[in-house]
Amino acid sequence: MFFFKMLGTAAGGGVPQWNCACTLCVLSRTRPLSVAPRLQLQAIVSGDGKGWFLLNASPDLRFQIEANPELQPSPEFGRRNTPIKGIVLTSADLDQVLGVLLLREFQPLTIYATSLVRRTLEANSFFRMLQRIPGQLTWAEIVPGQSFLLGDSGILCTPIPLEGSLPFYAKELDTGEPGQASLGLLLEKDGRKIAYTPALPEITEELRAIYRTCDTVLVDGTFWSDAELNRTHAGTPLARSIGHVPLSGDDGTIALLADLDFPGRIFVHINNTNPILDSNSVEHRAVLDAGWQVAHDGWQLDQ
Ligand SMILES: [Zn+2]
Repeated sequence: MFFFKMLGTAAGGGVPQWNCACTLCVLSRTRPLSVAPRLQLQAIVSGDGKGWFLLNASPDLRFQIEANPELQPSPEFGRRNTPIKGIVLTSADLDQVLGVLLLREFQPLTIYATSLVRRTLEANSFFRMLQRIPGQLTWAEIVPGQSFLLGDSGILCTPIPLEGSLPFYAKELDTGEPGQASLGLLLEKDGRKIAYTPALPEITEELRAIYRTCDTVLVDGTFWSDAELNRTHAGTPLARSIGHVPLSGDDGTIALLADLDFPGRIFVHINNTNPILDSNSVEHRAVLDAGWQVAHDGWQLDQ
């Protein structure tokens, strides 16, 4: 068995975002059937449907646990327990690690991360909350390109090194080593192979070669166009300058992956400015016509 489920599919801020009155955020508040609200990015995997691994830990994690019974503790195992067996961190971005702090309460945790991501978290005093008692937090170091088994799940996980540096608030810790600051994940079990790559600064030949071996790819769907964020909110950066290839255009993700014909192609990590969120938009239609799905919270891999 190989379970893979998305509990949140939006980029940082979610849909709607707390301080945003853009067209799509307003629509998601007033017409949720056209623009479905989405929680911030969160994926979970399991090899048996009983023990689960989090792929990163979103700021919305508490709501995501309470909305998904498979992540909740059971009285059958006593008063303190959790089916969450570990967390894989693919970067030290706040949107990917903030949820770790929500899992304190003296619960033993295992975090899989590169040595650089570990050092970045350890440099922040808040994360000492996870190390108040011996054995509370176990670090498992992961190395770009080196496969490892996720606990006893039977899921083989290979970190895919991506271009990228530490977030600006931790820049001084960066070593520039390839893949240490940003990873995609290749996940394999029982003949299924999934690529989880929600943040892509470029579509390389290496990445295309990895995708060709997969049956399902979950791909960075942050922005439709390079200038979309900047057009919506003056003074904000272009998509490519903050590490996201946009979906549209001759050099966009849809065009660059058009020759791949794997059955499962899903866009995740969708920003609240991206018009594909509106199920009535031409952009949403164009994504479907190109053979892609727009992920929604609760999306899961077919068994
Ligand atoms: Zn908005």
